[in-house]
Amino acid sequence: MIIVMRSDATREDVDHVLERLSEVGAEAHVSEGSRRTVIGIVGDRTRVQQLPWEAFSGVERAVPVLKPFKFVSRDFQSDDSIVEVGPAKIGGGYFAAIAGPCAVESRDQLFAAAEAVKNAGATILRGDAFKPRTSPYAFQGLGEAGLILLAEAREEFGLPFVVEVLDPRDVDLVSSYADLIRVGTRNMANFSLLSELGRQPRPVMLKRGFTATVEEWLNAAEYVYKEGNQDVVLCERGIRTFETSTRNTLDISAVPIVKGLSHLPIIVDPSHSGGRRQLVAPLTRVAVAAGADGFMVDVHPSPETALVDGPQAILPGEFADLMDEVRALAAAMHVQV
Ligand code: PEP
Ligand code: MN
Repeated sequence: MIIVMRSDATREDVDHVLERLSEVGAEAHVSEGSRRTVIGIVGDRTRVQQLPWEAFSGVERAVPVLKPFKFVSRDFQSDDSIVEVGPAKIGGGYFAAIAGPCAVESRDQLFAAAEAVKNAGATILRGDAFKPRTSPYAFQGLGEAGLILLAEAREEFGLPFVVEVLDPRDVDLVSSYADLIRVGTRNMANFSLLSELGRQPRPVMLKRGFTATVEEWLNAAEYVYKEGNQDVVLCERGIRTFETSTRNTLDISAVPIVKGLSHLPIIVDPSHSGGRRQLVAPLTRVAVAAGADGFMVDVHPSPETALVDGPQAILPGEFADLMDEVRALAAAMHVQV
């Protein structure tokens, strides 16, 4: 259930509601929007519903939330969330351009990519140190050595970075380096990992599971949010369908659908959805036009030698051209890159 306060409710009115909730053993999460305060409640539904909330001073209405997710829903917070990643912002009119290699392979490779994407206007660097590979014999990432290189690149080029975490046991390690921690498609329903990420201080990017519905995805985001971490960014990266001409089918409808259901920012990954270099630019344009809050692309200084995902990586020059298009489209969409 959520309690929507009137726009003229006072601090005392809100505190009084919170006191009554704590008396009935319910957990309350307060969202202070620009227009009104909303209180989300987790706890014994019958005890909470028994109280005559509409008779409380400052309460406009008490609304049962029928959706299984609560705090990430628009009912709980009508304003768009803005997530801060170092100096970059995502959501609520701020657009993120995230780019870099799929995996950190070496200092030279990472620095060449970081310099190029920074010069072209990227706001966040990507590059993974732990890779989820289909084959256990494929390159698995450099581990902590990769995180150290990413931190050095941040210093050198002034770009915050996003990196994937695979294992709940690595959350503290990754959190001590990263500006934004990513959950990949294969781990979207790893609920213990999600809860762990909800209890650490870094913002989280949650990719959509390749077989997940939008509702399952928002429930996964709720796992993070519920633990106290409100800085969650969603990333549509394509879903598995019968179509074989792309690696995954980019579900562009998910962008406006999520925007209607949730206040969280949503970005698009055209690289892992299309799976081919030629598709990156058209899918990025579509993402901006659909109202996404950003995009994330694989950029590699020499895709033919890439240890991971070379066929979908674009070259630095192609990224610079893409950024020109993105800036033009973003202006038309009234968002700030
Ligand atoms: C990635 O972004 O490098 C990645 C592994 O993506 P996904 O989890 O979407 O496959
Ligand atoms: Mn990849």
